[in-house]
Amino acid sequence: MSKRPSPVSPTVDFDADGIQHGFLKLPISTDESAWGAVMIPVTVINNGAGPTALLTAGNHGDEYEGITALLKLSNTLRAEDVRGRVIIVPIMNVPAATAGKRTSGLDGGNLNRSFPGDPDGGVTEQIADYFTRELVPMCDVALDLHSGGRTLDILPFAAAHRLDDHDQEAQSLGGAVAFGAPVAMMMFELDATKLYDTAVESQGKTFVTTELGGGGTTTPERMAIAERGVRNFLIHYGLIEGQLESPAGQQVYVDMPDASCYVQSEHSGLLELSFALGETVRRGDVIARIYDMTRTGSEPIIYHAKRDGVLVARRFPAQVNMGDTIAVIAEVVDSLER
Ligand SMILES: [Zn+2]
Repeated sequence: MSKRPSPVSPTVDFDADGIQHGFLKLPISTDESAWGAVMIPVTVINNGAGPTALLTAGNHGDEYEGITALLKLSNTLRAEDVRGRVIIVPIMNVPAATAGKRTSGLDGGNLNRSFPGDPDGGVTEQIADYFTRELVPMCDVALDLHSGGRTLDILPFAAAHRLDDHDQEAQSLGGAVAFGAPVAMMMFELDATKLYDTAVESQGKTFVTTELGGGGTTTPERMAIAERGVRNFLIHYGLIEGQLESPAGQQVYVDMPDASCYVQSEHSGLLELSFALGETVRRGDVIARIYDMTRTGSEPIIYHAKRDGVLVARRFPAQVNMGDTIAVIAEVVDSLER
């Protein structure tokens, strides 16, 4: 059964020359706005022949490094600097960002668990559907900027996924390395089915994802990584001219071979991690202690590392509940190529 056209209407012309700032308008009807619209900001820059890059952030509403970097880029990138077309959507899930949350303040939807989306679904699924059927088909290369948000803190990295199409995987990996974050990763997803990543990759597009920090804030260091990375991405795929800028130290390659990289809590309480982001962990090391907050005199629950590697992500709030990811340990490798 074919889907009806997307209810989203753009106020920009994706084929017009020059730079345009506008909105992707999605009709909504709420107590606050009976005949209203979700207004998703978009910038389109067109300048002659060349590839199309789709740059996105705010897929989750509390991941501010990418949102900030793309808002800044929309204000600084000039049409004459571009060869081809750059589409910038700094805040994909506007209702989530408005609420200061990972998920939508309108329907509770987690956009990055809503793909490929549905034109007849909730607001979040309608946004996903517009990307899947309208924006992604326009692009050759896509970059989606994430970070840990309020509940995770993540060592800044850019990543590609293992793909059945090895050329597509190599193209994507090239962009992840060129992004120039301190870490480049081959990422394993716990459940990839409903991710934007999968919606893009399944259309044969080159796709790079990132995690650029977290904690629901930004720092100067991480903003510098985000902004340099976006510029490097555009240079690498030929959309702007310039010299690739490398990270300060040697870039570290990490692989996530399987789900054992994720350490998830089987207890609730107060979390004490014994490693900082970027530190080397050995199998068997005490990686975390969880304390019972309801009494004194009780021993903490000890979590041991199940593999060697480097701590690439950690739970950010000290309070932890059952099922929370408390740490992610990735394996350091010499090369990410097959
Ligand atoms: Zn995210």
